[in-house]
Amino acid sequence: MLSSIQMHAPRVIYEYFRQLFAQVTNPPIDPLREELIMSLQCYVGPGGNLLELQPDLQCAKLSLPSPMLSSIQMHAVHNVHLYDPQWRSCSIDITFPREEGEEGYVKALDRICRESQNSVKEGYRIIVLSDRNTSFQRVPLSTLVACGAVHHHLVDLKQRLKVVLVVETAEAREVHHMCVLLGYGADAICPYLVHDLIGKLHRDNAVPALNMSAEQMIYNYSDACDHGILKVMSKMGISTLQSYKGAQIFEALGLDDTVVKRCFKGTATRIRGSTFYTLARDALAFHEYGYPTLEDQSIEPTNTPDKTAYNLREAGEYHYRIGGESHMNTPGGVVNLQDAVRTKNIESYRAYSREMQEQTNKCALRGMLDIAYEKRDPIPVEEVEDWTSIVKRFVTGAMSYGSISEEAHSALAIAMNRIGTKSNTGEGGEDSETSVRGGDSRRSSTKQVASGRFGVTGYYLTNAEELQIKLAQGAKPGEGGELPGHKVSESIAKTRKSTAGVGLISPPPHHDIYSIEDLKQLIYDLKCSNPRARISVKLVSEVGIGVISAGVAKAKAEHILISGHDGGTGAARWTGIKHAGLPWELGLAETHQTLVLNNLRNKVVLQTDGQIRTGLDVAVACLLGAEEWGFATTPLIALGCIMMRKCHLNTCPVGVATQDPELRKKFVGQPEHVINFFYYVAEELRDIMAKLGFRKITDMVGRSDLLKFRGDEKNPKMSNIDFTKMLHLTPFQFSAKIPQNFNLDLRIENQWMDEMMKAVDGDEHVRIEAKVSNTDRTLGATISSKIHAKFREEGMTKGSIHIKCNGSAGQSFGAFLAKGVTLELEGDANDYVGKGLSGGRVIIFPPKTSKFIAEENIIVGNVCFYGATSGRAYVRGIAAERFAVRNSGAEALVEGVGDHGCEYMTGGRVIILGKCGRNFGAGMSGGIAYVWDPEGTFPRQVNRDLVQLETMEDPEEIDYVKKFLEEHHQLTGSEVAGRLLAEWTKTLGQFVVVMPRDYKAVMEKQKKQKQVPQAGEIKELSNGHPKAHSNGHSNGNSNGIPPKNQIQKDTAEKIADLEDIVTDEEVAKKQLDKIRGFMKYKHKHDKYRRAKERSEDWKEISYRIDERELKTQTARCMDCGIPFCQSDYGCPIANIIPSWNELVFQNKWKEAYERLVLTNNFPEFTGRVCPAPCEGACVLGLIEKSVAIKSIECAIIDKAFDMGWVVPSIPKVRNGLRIAIIGSGPAGLAAADQLNRGGYRVTVFERSDRPGGLLTYGIPEMKLEKRVVDRRIDVMKGEGIEFRCNANVGHNVDALQLLSEYDSLLLATGATWPRDLDIPGRNSKGIHFAMDYLHQNTFSLLNSQLKDENFIDAKGKHVIVIGGGDTGNDCIGTAVRHGAASVINFDYHERLPEERGEDNAWPQWPRIFRVEYGHAEVVEKYSRDPREFCAKTKSFVVDESGHVTGINTVQVEWYRDENRKWRQREKAGTDRHWKADLVLLAMGYSGPETKILEDLAVKIDRPTGNAPTALARTPQTSYATNVPKVYAAGDCRRGQSLVVWGIREGREAAREMDENLTGSSLLPVTGGARATLYKKRAVAQ
Ligand SMILES: Cc1cc2nc3c(=O)[nH]c(=O)nc-3n(C[C@H](O)[C@H](O)[C@H](O)COP(=O)(O)OP(=O)(O)OC[C@H]3O[C@@H](n4cnc5c(N)ncnc54)[C@H](O)[C@@H]3O)c2cc1C
Ligand code: SF4
Ligand code: SF4
Repeated sequence: MLSSIQMHAPRVIYEYFRQLFAQVTNPPIDPLREELIMSLQCYVGPGGNLLELQPDLQCAKLSLPSPMLSSIQMHAVHNVHLYDPQWRSCSIDITFPREEGEEGYVKALDRICRESQNSVKEGYRIIVLSDRNTSFQRVPLSTLVACGAVHHHLVDLKQRLKVVLVVETAEAREVHHMCVLLGYGADAICPYLVHDLIGKLHRDNAVPALNMSAEQMIYNYSDACDHGILKVMSKMGISTLQSYKGAQIFEALGLDDTVVKRCFKGTATRIRGSTFYTLARDALAFHEYGYPTLEDQSIEPTNTPDKTAYNLREAGEYHYRIGGESHMNTPGGVVNLQDAVRTKNIESYRAYSREMQEQTNKCALRGMLDIAYEKRDPIPVEEVEDWTSIVKRFVTGAMSYGSISEEAHSALAIAMNRIGTKSNTGEGGEDSETSVRGGDSRRSSTKQVASGRFGVTGYYLTNAEELQIKLAQGAKPGEGGELPGHKVSESIAKTRKSTAGVGLISPPPHHDIYSIEDLKQLIYDLKCSNPRARISVKLVSEVGIGVISAGVAKAKAEHILISGHDGGTGAARWTGIKHAGLPWELGLAETHQTLVLNNLRNKVVLQTDGQIRTGLDVAVACLLGAEEWGFATTPLIALGCIMMRKCHLNTCPVGVATQDPELRKKFVGQPEHVINFFYYVAEELRDIMAKLGFRKITDMVGRSDLLKFRGDEKNPKMSNIDFTKMLHLTPFQFSAKIPQNFNLDLRIENQWMDEMMKAVDGDEHVRIEAKVSNTDRTLGATISSKIHAKFREEGMTKGSIHIKCNGSAGQSFGAFLAKGVTLELEGDANDYVGKGLSGGRVIIFPPKTSKFIAEENIIVGNVCFYGATSGRAYVRGIAAERFAVRNSGAEALVEGVGDHGCEYMTGGRVIILGKCGRNFGAGMSGGIAYVWDPEGTFPRQVNRDLVQLETMEDPEEIDYVKKFLEEHHQLTGSEVAGRLLAEWTKTLGQFVVVMPRDYKAVMEKQKKQKQVPQAGEIKELSNGHPKAHSNGHSNGNSNGIPPKNQIQKDTAEKIADLEDIVTDEEVAKKQLDKIRGFMKYKHKHDKYRRAKERSEDWKEISYRIDERELKTQTARCMDCGIPFCQSDYGCPIANIIPSWNELVFQNKWKEAYERLVLTNNFPEFTGRVCPAPCEGACVLGLIEKSVAIKSIECAIIDKAFDMGWVVPSIPKVRNGLRIAIIGSGPAGLAAADQLNRGGYRVTVFERSDRPGGLLTYGIPEMKLEKRVVDRRIDVMKGEGIEFRCNANVGHNVDALQLLSEYDSLLLATGATWPRDLDIPGRNSKGIHFAMDYLHQNTFSLLNSQLKDENFIDAKGKHVIVIGGGDTGNDCIGTAVRHGAASVINFDYHERLPEERGEDNAWPQWPRIFRVEYGHAEVVEKYSRDPREFCAKTKSFVVDESGHVTGINTVQVEWYRDENRKWRQREKAGTDRHWKADLVLLAMGYSGPETKILEDLAVKIDRPTGNAPTALARTPQTSYATNVPKVYAAGDCRRGQSLVVWGIREGREAAREMDENLTGSSLLPVTGGARATLYKKRAVAQ
């Protein structure tokens, strides 16, 4: 995301920095499994001359085990002189006076640099840059700016090594912040504000579950930072902090050169951007948040006397939140795209495309670019190449089967095969069985070769059109990945050649790529394994990618993919997702440019991917140099993905990213959906091409001269952006590709081919003898590819080929060797022997004539048998480092190994008859190793994170090892094997078995299942390993290895699925499962009291479900990645539902309340009367009944009132401005509440005798008791809001006078102009508007409990209510309570269906048949549903006294006209007469009453004649009317609506008024606070 520049909101400066990472030129490190080579320890302090021996100076340094300092350590730093007077520290204040404004920023920087320089001169050894002086008057500089500036200043003066630079900061809090500080010179960091906050959390007992001291929590935070720093360093392949510190391993994105030159000298900043001035503005805006000139309403919600840290606004940084951070994926985008592809609706696609463009403008670099159409002449679109040829350049992203479901994976493959392009297996391999369904191929043309080498067999390679080496993974370059054990099903295990239930690690580095030469070798290996396939290399955009790509092209890659930083994110850490890599726009432009300049561009195909979503994105990528484009997220969305971001939990509710069989059933995607999506994108692209006058894609590639910068005048940060470097590319002429020359015809194997083919084609046993040299690389791969092409994965079973070689073999000897082929080598071999071994046999021994002792000498190089999947190997002699890394099925014997043996192994067996290097078995999750360890030194070498050591006791196992030794002895003449066999009973006890714990647990489980057979559940181990060990007795091994039968119980327990433990709902409630709660617990919501009982009184009809049930409901909430409940389809005020659901789940009711009132002023109203669109849009509604959101909301606020948490909170500051609000309904009340919090003096004018609007006199008592309204009004009065009732503005109060007396005026007068029926008999007695009926009833009820009889009584009457909405239903309920003789309700519309109709898909409000409370009461009392559908009232029948006695109706039918608009026509012969002596007209309201509007000269919409619909809205997003100072909100503005909409409009209008009156506003609106730019404003009194 590029929000640092594209968003107006203030950002911390760290966000401008993108972490660089290793790719191709050097490898990343795995900081978990290879932790032993990493360190954060640093010696800091002045150093002497390296060439002079001055022990006092050279050795007098401070040793810091970590750069993270606790506050106590910081205290020690300040007082270091007490420990050693030679060491003195000084503190430099990095704040500046607020009144200096933006100018103060650079002035302060100058001062800080000056003071640092003086401090060094004065002999201080530690300089502390501190922002502790921050106060209302003093604004802090960014710590990073200060640190970078001082660091570079001292470097320039050659003084930097004389001091330790420590930062004491309230600003830095995230791992990325620490890394940037260290990268720009900080030696140590004390993030004291985080420590203070942790202390507060502890004091507040906010995380009781942790049950630990504050010190421990702070320690854990620092420890987490340490690990994070290690992770970031490791991505660059840097192992010590000493090397990372000051190394500036970042690129700046959006920072001006002036800033970079001063503070971050030497850092690449290609598009320039924010200056010191804009940074200063951000600093001042942040300061305003902390020390508001007015009370900051975004931080302190209303009515919460005890404000806590929970009330910070929801920034939506990590999850989509309305009003928060912008994300590419929005609810609207998801919904429109799915509608477009499912219903082939071009309008929906256009809406999707528009929305994507809007998001792109906010979050992506290309959002700042426009296409310069004016530079070209358009052509007719018909002349542009066809969509069918364009889509051949579209590919789907590498999404593994395993990370997504089989259904989703196959749908993508089928779609891409149908349109003749490529889907990508991802790194998870592919089922070797031909996958054809309904004539469709499920085979992916692009097969990926990643570091994990999952299922990368010789056959897999042969069966591809393109082989893609995944060097970096989307947004997680250098991160690696991990598939948790619970996602590794039998089928995935089979595909990945591993064990079901055992986790799989894909390591950060490819262990066969440590340099460009290694990459070249792998490219060659793959080409030999499949000469037909195009070899692709996937890189991630970063600075220098051009040079890397040129190297990759020279290494003979035929295809380069430049991924953007925002590509796949599944397994990445947040620091990687947010801060590593660069947008593809920059990487692509740089790569294209460098390749053109080096004459390499026409040798490679250039592809790009990363959030490409529309035809416009494709066009921009094409103009920047790409000729193919990858799409990942969007095809998944087309298939039903709703961006839940629960991929890692296996609980994707739509069956896309899950392996759960039940959830997979919910998958609704079809290949057609993907095809439709690509069709739309291609057509959109064709339109753009036509406008640009391009007939062919190839004419367009690299035409960056047709792109131009699109500024945003309102955003000062963008004023300085400069795209010159990115857009001024060297002109390029696209031509046919020049093939890379691999010289395959020169391979030695070709000389033997005819002979070898006799075995392949004729089942013969062929033996070949040859001399080889180290230029003979990848021996055996060519014949293996032919074997795999013919015999597929199985290899050759009848014929055989035995090649006896003499000499020194080149790299990759026996790579991907197929079953049926033996490579015997008398001599030695280079690196990568047996890479990806696929069933073949490799035998290596030293020349018989050699004199050296084989078992003491290295005979094969590094990384042998990396990614081997099956086959056998016998190596007489020692293997160098990283032996059998990621082996998943091969069996190998060797006589010693270097460091990192058997790393990440998931299967197979390895026997080692000699010494092993360090870190053995790191990340080894499967397979077994047997190590002969006569001296008992081996255990020290083992990384025991995942493995345990055992003795060898199982007879089967003993037999296996012995036989292997015998074969080895026989095939290689191994002396050590001979000796061991000679003394077998003695040496047996010297073997150590390295057993991965999870693997063992799974095998034990399988063994138990076999003993207790259960139908259909017994399965053989997927990789054909021997059975699990039987328990045995210790044989007296002296290595301190625990007895083998001591299976780690905890591991076994960990493996158990919660599903298996929780059996029924009762048990489940006690140990609620939030992760799978939506599958386990049923929907329950507030209940109505029994109809018979409730219709006898006026008390509220519903009662709350109990707290336990509420908690169960909150456990059902999935905390969705995109919470549709709070989207535009859901809650209109964007209540932060997932957050308060989570808090209730955690029993934190008070915090839940505080979070709720951030967005909703009156939850007690909405919780009772809102129709809850949130529930209609809840994601759970896709597969189940929604979460009972409304019930939870109501319970939270009721509890808050009960507990006394809701008390008046009088604003601390008044700004002296006065507001008049006309109307006291939800809109007026919400605006009053907000403005009062903003410091305004608010007076509410209400024409009725009581405030509340329709809350009081519309919605009847049984739905919303008036004590609930009064309770709220009392709180508001207590906060200083003045209510003037019986003030009918325009009648007894002069509107214009109000306008002159108040600073602003808000009209919130509702829409009370009722719709009427102009039919015969309308003027007769007994016919009333519903509002008159309801109003009078409530009035009398409140004043006299209906005793004054001053209301329209329905008692004993035949009541007919005309109109089927809420008002109609309230009339029904009221009439029932009056004791009507009968109640009938005419509804003009058709009866709604029981289920959602096709045109009413989720997440729209479900238009389904409902029985509302009034209907149920009529059923109870009169034994019939009162509703008559399609009933059109024709006339009223009137008696001679002028009183109504009945109604004549006719039935209508509804149909769609030729424009698909609904129309109705009368049905002949359906006339009917109904008896009625009370008729209530409840047909809605057309708009506001107009007197006051006319008085003020406010414009009114009157589209159909005289009746007003609403006030004029200009523009739609504004609440200002045409009259200065006059605003409007609620039903009077938008027409008849809902309480929740009234609240929303009131809040938004309040903010707009505040903004206009004071220049900026901190008042929150929907979804929490909207961030604000700094504006100087007076401190009000
Ligand atoms: C019977 C009925 C039932 C409803 N049920 C529901 C429901 O269950 N759920 C739901 O969400 N919504 C419901 N609604 C809709 C909801 O009540 C309204 O959408 C909401 O109240 C509109 O709020 P408002 O502040 O814009 O206007 P109102 O609530 O109408 O308030 C406007 C106020 O302005 C006052 N006023 C008007 N002119 C003047 C003047 N010149 N001087 C002084 N005061 C003036 C009026 O007296 C009134 O008090 C219902 C509406 C009705 C009529
Ligand atoms: S206000 Fe309405 S839509 Fe919003 S959360 Fe509450 S019930 Fe749902
Ligand atoms: S309430 Fe529904 S939509 Fe909202 S976060 Fe929870 S599950 Fe998702």
